[in-house]
Amino acid sequence: MTWSMSSTLLAWLLQLSGALSSPTVGPPAVQALVFSDQAVRLLALQARSFQTEFLGCMIGEIRDGVVHVDRIAPADVSPLRSTATEVVPETTCEDAGWTGTVGMIHNHPTAERCWYYFPGTQVPTSDEQSFVRTPYAVDAIMCGAKVVWIGRNMVQEELGLVETGGGSGLEP
Ligand SMILES: [Zn+2]
Repeated sequence: MTWSMSSTLLAWLLQLSGALSSPTVGPPAVQALVFSDQAVRLLALQARSFQTEFLGCMIGEIRDGVVHVDRIAPADVSPLRSTATEVVPETTCEDAGWTGTVGMIHNHPTAERCWYYFPGTQVPTSDEQSFVRTPYAVDAIMCGAKVVWIGRNMVQEELGLVETGGGSGLEP
């Protein structure tokens, strides 16, 4: 009896601490990611120019489950903390001076290992672990001519990088 009561209490306490530690209003779930032509051009230019990882703040808005990225601002990154396989910001996008950030994007210069989970597994990569520590709705990896991204439903998606001329940007 004692055991049963204490385990019930423990379960209740765990639930309570979970409820207290999770934010009351989290980032919304989204189904699609759309880049403006301006954002597509910047990504293409950065991918061509950078031999180490760059990190950007995707600025835009979320409407009806769709993330619209209007432009990409540079995150605050020390050159020493951008390598061919890793990039670490000095501070948040907000502290870097940007408002309206919906997610972060970084590139993989060799267009390899663009994964949030190791293929065929549920094992999260360091990119997934970085995403869950951010407050944002999405995260994206620029990977050659495509963008691999993930939302809070934790399902990895992929888009080809194309300009549309009409400001919608990336199509599946
Ligand atoms: Zn990465």
